[in-house]
Amino acid sequence: MRFVNWGIVLLVMIAVLVACDSDKKAENKHPPENEKQPEIAIPDFSADSAYHFIEKQISFGPRVPNRPAHKACAAYLVETLSNYTPQVIEQNFESTAYDGTNLSLKNIIASFNPDKSKRVLLAAHWDTRPFADNDSIDTDRPIIGANDGGSGVGVLLEIARQLHLNTNFDVGVDIILFDGEDYGVPANEKGFRNVPYGGFCLGSQYWSKNKHVPNYSAYYGILLDMVGARGAKFYQEGLSMNSAPSVVRKVWDYGQSLGYGDYFISQKSEEILDDHKFVNQWANIPMIDIIEYDPSTKNYFGKYWHTHQDNMDLIDKNTLKAVGQTVLKLVYME
Ligand SMILES: [Zn+2]
Repeated sequence: MRFVNWGIVLLVMIAVLVACDSDKKAENKHPPENEKQPEIAIPDFSADSAYHFIEKQISFGPRVPNRPAHKACAAYLVETLSNYTPQVIEQNFESTAYDGTNLSLKNIIASFNPDKSKRVLLAAHWDTRPFADNDSIDTDRPIIGANDGGSGVGVLLEIARQLHLNTNFDVGVDIILFDGEDYGVPANEKGFRNVPYGGFCLGSQYWSKNKHVPNYSAYYGILLDMVGARGAKFYQEGLSMNSAPSVVRKVWDYGQSLGYGDYFISQKSEEILDDHKFVNQWANIPMIDIIEYDPSTKNYFGKYWHTHQDNMDLIDKNTLKAVGQTVLKLVYME
């Protein structure tokens, strides 16, 4: 004869149920280690839009200082940036060119999240070369500068549009369009040897000594120059590697992880004189330069460089996308 104490059985059953239940609760409290954290939504950089912004700039003609097309394009750039942020500053100044010409120049600065102290500076030059000194024909005529000038600005205008549409970024961003970058001494000109910096980079020199906000600084800067040509390769430029190696590595890592390893080459190149030199050395802001580099040519730039071939035929949306998406990711991840 077996004696069953139903009271004890009931107690045991309740104890088991309670234990199971508390196990479940414990499970819920600690999600599995491999469960992914929600990813930061990074907007999709539109290469079509960047391409349109380049076409629009070149529709004014060469953007050579002191000429009507330069003035008209400046008005367009200010108006376009003003659609995306109320903080747009026009920094007007005079500068003397290598040949003594007085130039009326304008740096254009658009700011996002102006109250944030951690800031990223993005820049490009918006003026174009007054002559085609590397060409074999019409060397005295200005180039249209779809890539040299137009592409960097096109990418930055599209980034500005995205910053306006998608405000889920934490960092402050300043976009600076430098003037007077390409007014340097012609390559075949024998005189003017003592002109400082060959007469190049007038806008970044001025800004680095006269920042748009007193005591302005940035966490780091990125300069875009010639970032739209078909098949472009971006090497790790010498001065960028000396001044801001961690920023170079971060940008190249992002570029390669996004699938743009054909563009972002992990090899160091020669040091290039560009606007980032003055931002680094005069304004004390670590700034890198994303600039096309071709070790097979005499001057290390594409064959179109400072010639009349620097036109829309050269521009490839795939290159614009590689650079634009990479820089956009950087901003949203900061
Ligand atoms: Zn140039």
